[in-house]
Amino acid sequence: MSGDAGYDVVVVGSGGAGMSAAVEARAAGARVLVVTKSRLGASNTGRAQGGIQAAMGDDDSWDDHYEDTLAAGHHHGDPALVRHLTQHGPGAIAWLAEAGVEFSRDGGRLRILRCGGARRPRLLQAGERTGAEMVKALRARVRGAGADVRESTSVAAMAPTAAGWRLRLEGDGAGAVDAGAVVLAAGGGLRGEADRVGEASTNHPDATPEVLEMAVALGARAVHADSWQRHPTGAVWPEALSGYALPETTRGYGATLHDADGERFVDELAPRDVVADAIIAAVADGRGVEAPDGRRGVWLDTPAIDRAHGAGFTAARLAYVTKRYAGAGLDITRDRVLVYPVLHYRNGGLAIDGAAATTLPGVYAAGEITGGVHGTNRLMGNSLLDTVVFGRTAGREAAAAAR
Ligand SMILES: Cc1cc2nc3c(=O)[nH]c(=O)nc-3n(C[C@H](O)[C@H](O)[C@H](O)COP(=O)(O)OP(=O)(O)OC[C@H]3O[C@@H](n4cnc5c(N)ncnc54)[C@H](O)[C@@H]3O)c2cc1C
Repeated sequence: MSGDAGYDVVVVGSGGAGMSAAVEARAAGARVLVVTKSRLGASNTGRAQGGIQAAMGDDDSWDDHYEDTLAAGHHHGDPALVRHLTQHGPGAIAWLAEAGVEFSRDGGRLRILRCGGARRPRLLQAGERTGAEMVKALRARVRGAGADVRESTSVAAMAPTAAGWRLRLEGDGAGAVDAGAVVLAAGGGLRGEADRVGEASTNHPDATPEVLEMAVALGARAVHADSWQRHPTGAVWPEALSGYALPETTRGYGATLHDADGERFVDELAPRDVVADAIIAAVADGRGVEAPDGRRGVWLDTPAIDRAHGAGFTAARLAYVTKRYAGAGLDITRDRVLVYPVLHYRNGGLAIDGAAATTLPGVYAAGEITGGVHGTNRLMGNSLLDTVVFGRTAGREAAAAAR
């Protein structure tokens, strides 16, 4: 292939990681192209509802965030990467706020919630759809920064050149482009994996793993790439909601899990894999509840939230979930809902160092395509943070390398 254009930095993907990288690479003076499979910002990032973790609470510290992250990941995470993530958490929140993300407040103070696996309240939210708010703000930043964007365009192949890399693009922006450095931010591709194994997934239809596989085929080292996370509370019924996951905040606000006998069987605020494994075991043990179509799950007692906080709390704080279920004919303040774990997140991926560099020269990576930050089990809210912290690092380092 021969190159039809040259850039300092080509960013592959436009979720939180790709757009953060593009903004920083432009700020460093690089000529930047973003290549993305459908519309700019169409991604798993835009689907994230629960929130983003950072040690912002009065009694919190990045050390506690660091310890919780390593413990949740079964100590398989890379301590240096986890330190980079957690130390830069508050700075990432400030950067997002400056870009226009309005974090929720109660009485003027930031709203900070406690979620599974965290010893302190640490989860910040921008309304109920934090990921969509991030995408809106970052999309404006990417456009405003003057990065070139090729939408409805996929990276199909890349090969080293004397000066960097040449990428072959397919779709509306088809052709070949040359890059001094490349940032791979194409996500974990778990929708593609779920389709292969015939399971439901929370992921966006664009979430397929070909970029990860391409990098590995070129010789990039990967860590824990076969470690997949299930979201504990995927909707089982009504059928129309299959693949939808009730956010962790539902349990954070007090919804409890019950088997067919009405017994609680797990600490609802334990790390994700613990809760998901307990649900799978309860159902395998014959303690599940059968849905009208024969699938099984356990009860998530959502009415417990208003019982704990007062009528109207669920409608106010979980308006989006309430609306999704109301659309399918269920009132979650009155009725319990049936849930079962659903494929959600790739814990591992391309190995990176503290500069977000992969083991391929001139190739950087950030976000869900990478491994090492979350060990073999991600803490909820840490992925959005990962996209911003390592996305920014990757953009800056790629720009410097291209120079
Ligand atoms: C329903 C849902 C809820 C979630 N909730 C939370 C939450 O509350 N908090 C949290 O921290 N995390 C949450 N997560 C996880 C988090 O949203 C993702 O892990 C994170 O946003 C991944 O960001 P990313 O930028 O790495 O990848 P993505 O956001 O997945 O973006 C990947 C991009 O790459 C593009 N792409 C893919 N292949 C190609 C190709 N071949 N060529 C060009 N472009 C390509 C895609 O189109 C997309 O633009 C949630 C995930 C889902 C699915």
